[in-house]
Amino acid sequence: METIYFTNMQTEFGNSLEQKFRKLLKKSAYFDGITQGQLVALKVHVGERGNLGYVNPNFARIAAEEVKARGAKPFLTDTNTLYSGGRHNGVDHCITAIQHGYSYATVGAPFVPADGIRGLGHREVGVSGKHFQKTKLASGVLEAERIIFLTHFKGHIETGFGGSLKNLSMGCASVAGKMEQHAAAKPVMKEVHCVGCRQCYRVCPVGAVSMVKGKALIDYDVCIGCGQCVAACNYEAITPGSSADTEDFIEKVAEYAYSAYNYFGSNALYINFAMNITPDCDCWPANDVPVVEDVGILAGSNPFALDRATIDLINTARAQVSSRYHAKIVGERDVFEEVWDNPMAAAGFDHARSQFGVSLEYELRELG
Ligand code: SF4
Ligand code: SF4
Repeated sequence: METIYFTNMQTEFGNSLEQKFRKLLKKSAYFDGITQGQLVALKVHVGERGNLGYVNPNFARIAAEEVKARGAKPFLTDTNTLYSGGRHNGVDHCITAIQHGYSYATVGAPFVPADGIRGLGHREVGVSGKHFQKTKLASGVLEAERIIFLTHFKGHIETGFGGSLKNLSMGCASVAGKMEQHAAAKPVMKEVHCVGCRQCYRVCPVGAVSMVKGKALIDYDVCIGCGQCVAACNYEAITPGSSADTEDFIEKVAEYAYSAYNYFGSNALYINFAMNITPDCDCWPANDVPVVEDVGILAGSNPFALDRATIDLINTARAQVSSRYHAKIVGERDVFEEVWDNPMAAAGFDHARSQFGVSLEYELRELG
C-alpha cells in the first residue's frame, strides 16, 4: 500500500501554496536521503511554444532550494521531442525553457537537455516486456544520482491522461526511444526538405543512409528503424513512420514507464500538479480551458499508484462550466475517458499490472 501525500488548493495567511508545497516535500522521507554534492535532476516539461499550461516554475525553484539546502546540486532537465517545434533540439529547447521561466535566474538551477543537442544521447536499459527487452533512456536522467519528477497532470489525446507515467516513458526516452513507442514503421523521407547537411548519414548505426546528388537516401532493406536519423534531422526531412495501433502504443508507453521506474528505484520522487487540468498535453502549442477545477498537489514514490490516485481525485472534481467538454464530463464519469472517448488509461494500468506486477493500491494522506 503506497502512501500518497496530498495537499489541496486552499490557502490562508501563513499557509500559502508555496509553504504547503515545502511541507509536502519535507513530509516525504525522500529529501532526508539527499546528500552533499549529489547531482539531482528536476525532471520538468517546459511547455511547447504557445502553451502556458505547464507547471509554474516557482514550484521548481522551491524544489531546487530544498535540494541546495542539503548541499546537493539541482538541474532542470527534459528530453528533446520527436516532432518539430520549440524543443526538437537542445538549443531551441534551452531557449524555450528560458522563455517559459525555467532559467537559472528564476529557478536557481540550469536547464540541461537530457539527451543532448540532437536527442541522440541515450543508453539502453533492460526490461522484460511484451514489446521491449530494452528501452532507450536519456543519458542525462540516468546519470543523475537522484531525480524528482515535477509533472503537470492533464489530458492527452493518445494516452487519455498525461501524468508521472508519461513523464517517465516519453519524458525520459531519447528521440529514438520516443519513436519506438509511437511508430510501428520505419522513418519517412521528405526529399524536398533535405538540405544535404549529412547529419543523418553520420548517425545511422547500420549505414542505411547514403547521399545521392546532395540529398539523403534511406535503404529500407538495411534500415532497422532505430530513429536516430529522425533525431538528427533539423529540417523535417525525416519523420517517424506510421503510428502504432492504439492498444500497442499504450502498452509500449507502460513498458517504458516501468523500465525507467525500475531503473531509478528509491532514487526517484514523483510529484503530480493536478491544477490547470487542460484537455491536451503541454506538447500542444496552445492550452485550452481546464476540464475540471484545480485539485491540488500529490507526491509519492510509486508513479503507478500516484497517477491512479490523481485520476481518482480528478474524477470527483467539479467540471469547468466554460470547458468545451463540460456536457460530456458533468455528473458521474471518468473525466479523461469521457474527454477522449477511449478507455486508454485503464489499458495502460492493466498492462503494467499484468506484465510487471505493479501495485495501484494507495492510502491518501492529506496535509493541511
Ligand atoms: S532509422 Fe536508424 S537505421 Fe534507419 S535510416 Fe534512420 S538511423 Fe539508419
Ligand atoms: S539530416 Fe535531414 S537535411 Fe540533413 S541530410 Fe539528412 S535528411 Fe537531409
